[in-house]
Amino acid sequence: MSESASPPLDHARYLRETLRLAEESVRLGSAPVGAVLVNRNGNIVARGRNRTGERQTAERVGGAPVAHAEMDLLFQVGELRDPGSLTLYSSLEPCLMCGGACALQGIGRVVWATDDPWGGSGRLLAWEHHPAMQHTDVVRCPDAALEREGARLFAPEARRAFPEEGWQLWQRRYPEETAGL
Ligand SMILES: [Zn+2]
Repeated sequence: MSESASPPLDHARYLRETLRLAEESVRLGSAPVGAVLVNRNGNIVARGRNRTGERQTAERVGGAPVAHAEMDLLFQVGELRDPGSLTLYSSLEPCLMCGGACALQGIGRVVWATDDPWGGSGRLLAWEHHPAMQHTDVVRCPDAALEREGARLFAPEARRAFPEEGWQLWQRRYPEETAGL
């Protein structure tokens, strides 16, 4: 744990907010992923959600495969003050791009609800072999009920968007939540 990391936060509270944002993304035609950034006092300082199915605007990244929830959030906040004291929550294990962006920004901690056995970068998020990116702590799936809720929410997108081998990884990781899709 980095020395500037915050005191314990109620992970479930913030993960619930990421799931709410993920549901909003689905309603608006994007993929079901949400993210929030929380400061050391437990305040949500930014919210982001996937916008891959929506148009790019002057204010928001959109309409491209890189319009992920975490990028939406990071582009909104711009320069971070004391990034090591911040925790980024995501409804889904961040991909290589978003995990890398969090590490590049020096964000102190990343927490996610649901593993993404196909697109996730959690195994690499410690960036142990990268000299400049060793300061981001990783907390995976701290709440089993929310993990399953996130898996149910994302499973249709995994079925639709991932190649067969990716979907098979999802079925193996979350058999109940992917059943019948
Ligand atoms: Zn991503």
